[in-house]
Amino acid sequence: RPTPVAALEARHLVKEFRGFRATNDVSLQINEGEIHAIIGPNGAGKTTLFNLLSGFLRPTSGEVHLFGERVDQLRPYEIVRRGLSRSFQISSVFPTMTVRDNVLVALQSPTPLPHQFWSPLSRLDALGEQAEQILEAVGLGAAHERLAADLSHGEKRQLEIGISLTQQPRVLLLDEPTSGMGSEGIARVIALVREVARGRTVVLVEHNMSVVAELADRITVLQYGAVLASGRYDDVRQDPRVIEAYLGE
Ligand code: ADP
Repeated sequence: RPTPVAALEARHLVKEFRGFRATNDVSLQINEGEIHAIIGPNGAGKTTLFNLLSGFLRPTSGEVHLFGERVDQLRPYEIVRRGLSRSFQISSVFPTMTVRDNVLVALQSPTPLPHQFWSPLSRLDALGEQAEQILEAVGLGAAHERLAADLSHGEKRQLEIGISLTQQPRVLLLDEPTSGMGSEGIARVIALVREVARGRTVVLVEHNMSVVAELADRITVLQYGAVLASGRYDDVRQDPRVIEAYLGE
């Protein structure tokens, strides 16, 4: 078996906030093409780790590597250009614009995309076409002209994932994609994540363990800012330390 390629790697990451260690020597490897879930009790450091991986925070020490290149000193947009994109738990959607315009605005962000080489007129057509494809891919094919404000909570999350896809990420970070959803919305998100994970690496923070069980190839459990366990879902969930950490919450 060939050694898996690391899409994203944390090496001895530490993040301190005024002496408090929110991230405590985290090392982990996320392989190309896998769906990797990061779980752990509230305050375990999941959000801080996401911020470190996507360049929104600089580590106090340690390194982040994306496809073998060190990226922890780069700015978020420079990391986006190198293929990592992130959807936020806090909505990044413009409520007074239509669904389609939300995607069009994101498509025109400064990240270099192939369409920039086309002429202005065909460029607009191409952008429109790309927007359609993305909306189709996230299950909003019939919602183009609706105002983002009128979308359901679940549809907004779908749109946010669509917005992150405009950056053509090779690695997609999803922050609690099912939060606040009912079972129908959750089922839709599971299908959507499976879809977007084809040909991509997906890292998600997720509280719902049945979602993790359905989606994740491997998981990392954080506790007090450190890695408690990491590996295949079926192995990790039987780890006595993991069971104890969750029962003790
Ligand atoms: P999780 O996402 O797992 O709930 P967080 O990463 O949000 O955990 O937080 C981990 C710990 O770090 C918490 O104790 C939190 O209070 C602390 N923390 C996070 N961000 C900051 C900050 N900017 N300043 C001070 N403490 C912070």
